[in-house]
Amino acid sequence: MSKHLKVAIIGSGPSGYYAAEALLKSETTGAPPVEIDILDRLPTPYGLIRGGVAPDHQSIKGVAKRFEKTSSHEKCRFIGHINVGKDISLDTLKTMYDAVVIATGAPLDRNLGIAGEDKYGVIGSASLVGWYNSHPDFANLKPNLDIKDVVVIGNGNVAIDVARVLAKTADEMAASDLASHAAEVIHTAKLENIWLVGRRGPMEGKFTQKELGEMGELENCVTVAKLEQIPDEIGEVGEKEIPAKTKNLAHLQSFTTNVSGEKPMTLHVEFYARPVEILGGDKVEGVRFERTKVENGQCVGTGENFDIPCQMVVPCIGYLSEPIEGAAFNQGKGKFKSVEGVVDDNLYVVGWAKRGPSGTIGTNRLDAKAVMDIVLAKTSCSMKQGGVALDQYIKDNDLKTVCFDDWKKIEMEEESLASDPSPRAKIPHIKEMFKVIEK
Ligand code: NAP
Repeated sequence: MSKHLKVAIIGSGPSGYYAAEALLKSETTGAPPVEIDILDRLPTPYGLIRGGVAPDHQSIKGVAKRFEKTSSHEKCRFIGHINVGKDISLDTLKTMYDAVVIATGAPLDRNLGIAGEDKYGVIGSASLVGWYNSHPDFANLKPNLDIKDVVVIGNGNVAIDVARVLAKTADEMAASDLASHAAEVIHTAKLENIWLVGRRGPMEGKFTQKELGEMGELENCVTVAKLEQIPDEIGEVGEKEIPAKTKNLAHLQSFTTNVSGEKPMTLHVEFYARPVEILGGDKVEGVRFERTKVENGQCVGTGENFDIPCQMVVPCIGYLSEPIEGAAFNQGKGKFKSVEGVVDDNLYVVGWAKRGPSGTIGTNRLDAKAVMDIVLAKTSCSMKQGGVALDQYIKDNDLKTVCFDDWKKIEMEEESLASDPSPRAKIPHIKEMFKVIEK
C-alpha cells in the first residue's frame, strides 16, 4: 500500500492549479501526502491565464507565479501535450490514480441560436480571444478586420475585453503580450464603430467597474452612451452591490456627454437590445435587434426591431465545457454533472467545468479547495501506481509530452523574443514550441 494519495488533475488553468495547491497544503493539516500530476492538452500551462485573460491585463496574469510555485513542489508534476479523451481515456486514467479531477474549464463558445449565425464574419469570443492571445487552436483564424463596423454582443467583462483590445492603439498595447499576428491586423485596421450591445439595461450589466472605466480612457476611441438609456440612480439593488453599481453608473453617465466621432473610433454602448437575426448573404452585413425592456430583472421583447449595419459580429455571451467520454455531462448547461464536485467514485470536477463560466480567477480557489476537501475525505491510498503507470503508458504509446522544465524553455524563449516593454512574444504554434524545447 502506497503512503501517497495519487491524484491526476486534467487541465492546468486556475482551477487545476488551485486544486493542486489545496491538496499540497492539506499535508500540513495531517492529511495523507499527495502525488499530483497536472495534465494539459497544450504544451503550455495556465489555461485561461495564458489564453483567456486580456493581453493588456498583465497584473491578472501575475497569478501564474503562484502556480509556478505549486509546480516546483517535488510531488507535483506538469505533463503537457497529452489530451485526455484522445491520447488516453478517462477510464484508463481512473485505473491509475486514486482520484481524477476534471479542471478543463469552458473553452467552447455558446451559440446565440438565431438565424444567420453561420455567416462569414461571426466570430465567437472564445475564437477571437484565443486568436489575439496566441492560443494554438486559433492562431490561424485570420479574421477580416479590413472593415468599419463591429458589433460585440454581451455585457460581461469578455465583451468589454474584446471591444477594448480592438479599440486600443499599438502604443496602448505596447506593454501587453498581444499576439504579433493579431497586432499586425488590429493596428492596421480602420475600424470606425464598435457597438457593445446588452440585451438588458445598464444596471444589469455584468461588467465590473474597473473594466467599464477603462472604456472612458481610450486614446483613439470615444465611448458614448445614450442619455435616455442611463438612469439617474442605481435603483433597487442588493446592499453588497451598491458600491460597484454606483461606480458603473458614474462611468456610464460620463459616457453620455461624449460625442460620437470625437475620435477616429467610436464605441457605442447600447442597452435594451436582443439580437434576433444576423443579416447579410454569405457575409455579415448587420444585426437585427429587438428593443427590450426589463421587468423583474428579466429581458422582455417589445416587438420593435432595429438594425445595426456591421461586417463583423462577436458574440461574448458565455462559454460551454467540452465533454470527455466517460464523465457525466449536462448538455443543456454545458458543464459536467456533479454533486458538489463529485462526478462518480473517484472522479471529481472543479472550476468552470463544474459550475459554468462565472466568477473571477480567485473564485476558483475556494471552489477547488471545497472539492479537494471532499477528495481527501473520500479517498484513501491504494495500490494504484499514479505517475509511474502514466509514464509507462506515455512510453508504450510513444506520446510526445512536455514537462515543466520544457515549458520553462518555451517561456524563456518567449521572454527573450519580446521587445520592451512587452513581457513576452508568445509562440502560437505547437510545432514551433517543440523546436524550442528540442534545440
Ligand atoms: P458573463 O459575465 O456571464 O456575461 C455574458 C453576457 O452575455 C451577459 O451580458 C448576458 O446577458 C449576455 N448574453 C447571454 N446570452 C445572450 C444572448 N442569447 N443574447 C444576448 N446576450 C446574451 O460572461 P463573460 O463575459 O463571458 O465572462 C465570463 C466570466 O469571466 C465572468 O465571470 C467574468 O466576470 C469573468 N471575466 C472576468 C474578467 C476580469 O475580471 N477582468 C475578464 C473577462 C472575464 P444577461 O445578463 O442578460 O444574461
